Amino acid sequence: MPKLSFRDLKPKGKRVFVRVDYNVPLKNGEITDDTRIRASLPTIQDLLSRGARLVLASHLGRPKGEKKPEFSLAPVAKRLGELIEAKVHFVGETVGPEVEKAANDLGEGEILLLENVRFFPGETSNDPNFAKQLAALADVFVNDAFGTAHRAHASTAGIAEHVEKAAMGSLVEKELKYLQGELEKPSRPFVVILGGKKVSDKIGVINALLDKADTILIGGAMQYAFRKAQGHAIGTSYAVDEDIPIAKDILAQAEARGTNLLLPADSLEADDFSNEANTHSITPYADGGGIRDGWEGLDIGNHAIDEFSAILKDAKTVIWNGPMGVFEIDAFAKGTKAICEVLANNTAATTIIGGGDSVTAVNKFGLGDKMTFMSTGGGASLELLEGKTLPGVAALSEA
Ligand code: AMP
Repeated sequence: MPKLSFRDLKPKGKRVFVRVDYNVPLKNGEITDDTRIRASLPTIQDLLSRGARLVLASHLGRPKGEKKPEFSLAPVAKRLGELIEAKVHFVGETVGPEVEKAANDLGEGEILLLENVRFFPGETSNDPNFAKQLAALADVFVNDAFGTAHRAHASTAGIAEHVEKAAMGSLVEKELKYLQGELEKPSRPFVVILGGKKVSDKIGVINALLDKADTILIGGAMQYAFRKAQGHAIGTSYAVDEDIPIAKDILAQAEARGTNLLLPADSLEADDFSNEANTHSITPYADGGGIRDGWEGLDIGNHAIDEFSAILKDAKTVIWNGPMGVFEIDAFAKGTKAICEVLANNTAATTIIGGGDSVTAVNKFGLGDKMTFMSTGGGASLELLEGKTLPGVAALSEA
C-alpha cells in the first residue's frame, strides 16, 4: 500500500512534528558539514509555506539515553536559523512543560527544534510513554529521517500511533522511489555492484536481487571470501572464515538461478597498506594467478576494471553499494574511480548509489551530480534493497 506523503497534508495552522536527520559531524562544537541540514529544507519550507507550525526532532551521535552537552542540537538550531527565513526556537529540552509551552506558543511559519531525542532511553527502546509525550507536541507526524527509518524508535515509529496522521517527507519519498519503486520493473540490463568488506551484511541484498538483476559484480574486500571459497590463493587479503561458506552458497545459488555473478578477473596486490606500497596487477585468476604470500589484494586489477566497465557502459539500471578497493588511499583507488567514471558517463542509465562508503567515494571524485540518486542511508538502504519493510515507513498512514 502506498504511504501518505507530506504533499497530501493540509497543514495550515497545524502543529507538524517532523523527524529529521540532523546527525551532523561536529568538531569542537562547530558543524563541519551541514549537508543533512540543507537536505531537510525542501520538506520544511513546503510545510511552512502552507502555514504549518513545525516541531523538529532528531538524534545526534550516541549519548546512550543520557543528557550529554557534547551531543546537544544547539549548534544545529543556530545553523538552521542561518539557512532558513523562519524563526527557529530552541529551549534545550526534548519533552516536558517548557517544551509544551514553546510548542503551544509557536506561530504559523515558525519552528521549534527539540533537544536530542536520544538523551532519553525511551527513544531507542520505543517506549510508548515517551512516544506519547512527543506526539502531544503536535497534531501530525512527518518522517523525513531515512537514515534511521530501519529502526523502530519512539520518534521514528512509535509516535505515529498517537497522532491524527503520519506521512513521509520528501527525502523518504525519494529514497523509496529509487531503492524500491525503480526496482519493480527496472530498465535492462540491470546491474548490481557490491563491494566493501562484509559479505554477511550484503547477503540479504544478493539473495533479494539474484533473480532480478541481469548481472551482479562483486568487488572490494568481499571478493576474497569468494576466491578463497573457489580455492584460489589470496595471500593476506581480508577474508573472514564465517563468510567462506556463505560465499560458496551464493556462487551455487547464482549458478542454479542463471544469474551472471562476476568476480574481478584479477586483483591489485600490495606489500603494504599505504601509499608507499609496491603494487602489482596479478595474472588473472582464470589463468592460474593468485595473490602471493605476504601480499594483500587492495583493489581490483586492470582486467577487472576493463571487464566491469564494458558491462556498466551498456547498463540501463545500476545499483552500487561498496567500494572496489581501499579508495581512501590513492594507490588503491583506481578501480573505484573507474567505476565512478563509467557510471558518470553512462547518461542513459538510472544510476543509484546506495549509501555509506560508495557515496563518499563518488563525492571524493567530484561526480555526485552525475548520478541519478545517492542514498542518505547506509543500513536503511541495504534493508530496502533486501525487500524488507522499514519500521519508520510501515508506521505511516496509508495514502
Ligand atoms: P563496507 O562498509 O562493507 O562497505 O566496507 C567499506 C570499506 O571497505 C572501505 O573503507 C574500504 O577501504 C574497504 N575495502 C574495500 N576493498 C578492500 C580490500 N580489498 N581490502 C580491505 N579493505 C577494503
